[in-house]
Amino acid sequence: MKFIADAMLGRLARWLRLLGFDTLYFPDIEDHRLLRIAREEDRTILTRDTRLVKVRGLKNFLLLHDNDPFEQLTRVLKAFSLYPPEQADSGKEGRPRLYSRCSLCNTLLEDVPKEQAKPSVPEYVYQTAGGFKQCPQCGKFYWKGTHPALLKKKLNEILSGL
Ligand SMILES: [Zn+2]
Repeated sequence: MKFIADAMLGRLARWLRLLGFDTLYFPDIEDHRLLRIAREEDRTILTRDTRLVKVRGLKNFLLLHDNDPFEQLTRVLKAFSLYPPEQADSGKEGRPRLYSRCSLCNTLLEDVPKEQAKPSVPEYVYQTAGGFKQCPQCGKFYWKGTHPALLKKKLNEILSGL
C-alpha cells in the first residue's frame, strides 16, 4: 500500500515512513499535481481537505479530521487494516519494516559499514552504535538511537492498540 499525503500532513507522512510505508509528501503541491501522481503511481491520497475529496471519480482516498498526527496515524492504520509492520530485523520480503525508510525523503535505507558513517556522525555515536544505515538519496545516516525514545514509545502504543 502506497500513499501520498497532502500539504497539511507532513508529520503524518514522517510517521508512516518510520513504519516503513511508502509515503510521498510535498510541502506545497497543487491539487492537480497531487491527483495526477496518485493516479499514475496508484497511491492512496491522505488529506484533510474536504474540497479535494469532492473531485469527480476520486476513489482511493482517506479524509482525516484529526489534528493530532498520532490520531491521524491510528486512523490510517485502522482504515486500511494495516497490520503492524515487522520489527526491523525480522522483516519478510515485501512487508513494511519499521525504521526501514528515510523519514525525510521516503527512500529505502541501506546498511553501510561503520567506517562510512564515521565522518558524518558524532564520535560517541560512532564508538557506541551497532549498525548504521544510510539514505542513498539524501545521504542522511541512521543508527539505533536516531529516533527519540518518546517517539518509539508512542509508535509502539499505537501498534499495540490496533
Ligand atoms: Zn533521505
